[in-house]
Amino acid sequence: MITRTLGQIAAMCAGEPPAAEAMNIPLTGVVTDSRKITTGCLFVPLTGDKFDGHHYAAASLAAGAAGTLWQRDKGPAPEGGGVIIVEDTLEALQKLSAAYLNEVAPKVVAVTGSNGKTTTKDIIMALLEMQYKVHKTEGNFNNHIGLPLTILSMAEDTEIAVLEMGMSSRGEIALLASLAAPDIAVITNVGESHLLQLGSRKEIARAKLEIVEGLKPGGLLIYNGDEPLLTEVMQESTFKAPEGMVSFRFGLNGDNDDYPTGMMSHSGGMTFTSSLHKEHAFTLPLPGQHNVVNALAALAVARHFGVTEQNVENGLSKLKLTGMRIEVIKTSSGLTLLNDAYNASPTSMKAAIDVLQTMKCRGKKIAVLGDMLELGPDEIQFHKEIGYYLDPAVTDFVYTFGPLSVHIAEAAKERFGNERVLAFTDKSELTAVLIEKCSSKDIVLFKGSRGMRLEEVLQSLNKEI
Ligand code: ATP
Ligand code: MG
Repeated sequence: MITRTLGQIAAMCAGEPPAAEAMNIPLTGVVTDSRKITTGCLFVPLTGDKFDGHHYAAASLAAGAAGTLWQRDKGPAPEGGGVIIVEDTLEALQKLSAAYLNEVAPKVVAVTGSNGKTTTKDIIMALLEMQYKVHKTEGNFNNHIGLPLTILSMAEDTEIAVLEMGMSSRGEIALLASLAAPDIAVITNVGESHLLQLGSRKEIARAKLEIVEGLKPGGLLIYNGDEPLLTEVMQESTFKAPEGMVSFRFGLNGDNDDYPTGMMSHSGGMTFTSSLHKEHAFTLPLPGQHNVVNALAALAVARHFGVTEQNVENGLSKLKLTGMRIEVIKTSSGLTLLNDAYNASPTSMKAAIDVLQTMKCRGKKIAVLGDMLELGPDEIQFHKEIGYYLDPAVTDFVYTFGPLSVHIAEAAKERFGNERVLAFTDKSELTAVLIEKCSSKDIVLFKGSRGMRLEEVLQSLNKEI
């Protein structure tokens, strides 16, 4: 993590130089949450809708912070440690991270897309780690605050930084990409997440492609070639690629630069070969062909850095994913629970249903689906489409939770009939029905938007069964 003197930090974030006697105060690490102060750190007070970190600056210094940023318009700065006065603490945090990245100078891989960013980042990390010292975004720290904090927690000897970039409106990816100036940009896909804010899928594609605005000249863009909107936006007159940009397309279709030539689903995940690796079958310890597509993006990054096929194979076997992305959980009674309750959009909901429907199962298959939020005016239609997408020949029961997913249930009933589909508004009722219905050998999928917290049902079921 960053270790610099107060004077150096002031220069890096374009703040006012501290008093002469404070210039050499050493600082290690940057914290924005006053409850997480570590001894000797720099506290950065941020102004949010509900809280203003400036109220906690004095307490942070008392708790061990060696210094704090202080926004000029917030009145007199606290005493008792080093203070750097800045015009805007958020901008200062971002400038500090860009300056630190510039000094450490690792190669930078930036990952964006509607679905699969965290998964793809985790796979890239697992592959590069076999040959390099890599730093990656922890969990989902992918926004205008999380990205700077990720950069500032990077070790000084990092060779490659793998950074996830998320967004909910236009301009956000452009900002993150300008901070990180990636050598490689990855776009996993274009889905429907944040359709409410952006209005159309094409606008989402434009937002993702903002990532090239920060790409270094001669940089590599690795993108999902199955998505025609990305190609269309790249042909628009307003689209500006950096000089000498090289692009590479991955996906399921045979016209991509790399595509799967064989895929087999089994209890250990997916084994696949691809057009660029016909002779070497890789085993990915994750279910679903969408994860093979994520792996193809990661493979493209690994090849760029010269990671050998043997190291790809070994790296994949050690893959550790951030939780709740199709986690396969076996209960003590032998029931299989698929925890994909982290978030949901139509694309990722269909991907999760594919996983459930293609898994080998000697019992029943049950889909527990919650509302998909923030989809805008067509939200009812999106929910109905999920109901029609479910296959009554392979899925046995569909249970929905929440007011929007009633439309999943209504559409599903047309082919499943009334007995096999139930819509719930109460989690304890849903849990009670699951406890009654489930037996060992069954597989139950849990999928819904973050706000639906379907993992609560999964946890109760796991305790009871
Ligand atoms: P967030 O925007 O919340 O950060 P993310 O883009 O990081 O999400 P992940 O956390 O990797 O995405 O995956 C979230 C869910 O999206 C997974 O559980 C899976 O259901 C689905 N998913 C992952 N990859 C893909 C893909 N390539 N295509 C469609 N769905 C996917
Ligand atoms: Mg993520």
